[in-house]
Amino acid sequence: MSATKADLVVANGRIVTPDSVFEGSIAIKDGKVLAVGDLEAMPLAAELFDAAGMHILPGAIDDHVHFRDPGYPHKEDWESGTAAAAFGGVTCVFDMPNTIPPTANGEILAAKHAIAASKAHIDFGLYGLLGDNTIATVPELIAGGVIGFKLYMGNTFGKIPSPDTGATLECFEVAAATGKRVSLHAENNDIMERRQKRLMAAGRKDQWAHLAARPSVVAIEAVSRAAILAEWTGARIHVLHISTAEELRPLREAKARGVDITGETCPHYLLLSTDDYNRVPGIIAVNPPVREKQNQQPIFDALIDGTIDVIATDHAPHAYEEKTRNDIWTVDCGFPGVETQMPLMLTQVNAGRMSITDYVRMSAYNPARIWGLYPRKGALLPGSDADIAIVDLGREHTIRDAETQSRSKVSPWDGYRVKGLPIHTLVRGRFVMKDRKLVGGTKGWGRSVHAIQDMPEPAVMNAEHSMHAITRP
Ligand SMILES: [Zn+2]
Repeated sequence: MSATKADLVVANGRIVTPDSVFEGSIAIKDGKVLAVGDLEAMPLAAELFDAAGMHILPGAIDDHVHFRDPGYPHKEDWESGTAAAAFGGVTCVFDMPNTIPPTANGEILAAKHAIAASKAHIDFGLYGLLGDNTIATVPELIAGGVIGFKLYMGNTFGKIPSPDTGATLECFEVAAATGKRVSLHAENNDIMERRQKRLMAAGRKDQWAHLAARPSVVAIEAVSRAAILAEWTGARIHVLHISTAEELRPLREAKARGVDITGETCPHYLLLSTDDYNRVPGIIAVNPPVREKQNQQPIFDALIDGTIDVIATDHAPHAYEEKTRNDIWTVDCGFPGVETQMPLMLTQVNAGRMSITDYVRMSAYNPARIWGLYPRKGALLPGSDADIAIVDLGREHTIRDAETQSRSKVSPWDGYRVKGLPIHTLVRGRFVMKDRKLVGGTKGWGRSVHAIQDMPEPAVMNAEHSMHAITRP
């Protein structure tokens, strides 16, 4: 045994990496992985935790959540949202900027960082809003430590104005120079607004009208256009919540051209379809919409072959009353997901639809890599933060909205059977969820990860033709 004393050894589990599974133990010291290997090779530790029969995964990094804080405390806040994450084996989240006020300048960002740091059980990054009105505030958002930017090409909850194509190009030019990645709500706003107006005038207010207002072409067009603008400017972009099989072609083509474009999907696009509309109308409303069943398998395949890089959740909590109104145009879009993503996907592992190494690649390794956090996050290597989900792959469980940690107790997953459940979650070596219970005293343990982010050097293209260049006297 080595003389270096560890704080904790998680012993005798099955350790999962992006390309292998092996029996082993993990020694942790000062919040970081100290050693990985056979138990006999581990240093002495103050505490030994037996993980026999369990799988040890790097905690999931969910790059797409809405914790509604500040602004909507009845829907969620940083305490309830990160508790839900801990129960879901998620050790780091990136929170979207459509809070009140939107995260649009340095002062608002600083205030949000303070709120999150005071309440979070797990680590976090904050997005800055990128749009026509925030082009000027990009430098202060960078200085304040945003993890990346969010640009709303299409309208959704929070009614953030969508920049037109001219403004989007300028946004990309400005973002490209920072090297940070821009996450995109990629839906064409003009098409959706026109269609929604027509549908409303025709008296339609059902769940299917919501889909009719947002046909797949809104996503295909937006992904294609964004890829062209990113290629020309050198901006790094991330296509959020891929919902259609047809978005995969522009995504694949852009990747083949060398555009720095990554993609994400969520469990609801893999496992739900319009077949569920009549079962949970309103509750299933989300932007982009859950679509026809024939989209599921191609998206699933793209996630496994790497065309889609990341599984995230778009965790978007609302109150029951806000999800069950009779007029679809007044229903708040989105539902919680940060607590159920891992069990839902482990169920797919158990069903033989993907391997557990595939799952670790899409839930932890890839998000850490594309956001400049690897190998500090998203890995269980010596020196990595000890962010760990200890899961029982054999545990069967029924999702009950009423029992979840989120303040929102309404989702299309209520009653859904899963097999595979996170039992314990550690963040930087500390248990925050143990035996399916939140660990006391962990509120405020979460830290912003912006300080450890290391993105590659900016790769600006066509700078001489940028708005900045052409308006210089
Ligand atoms: Zn979202």
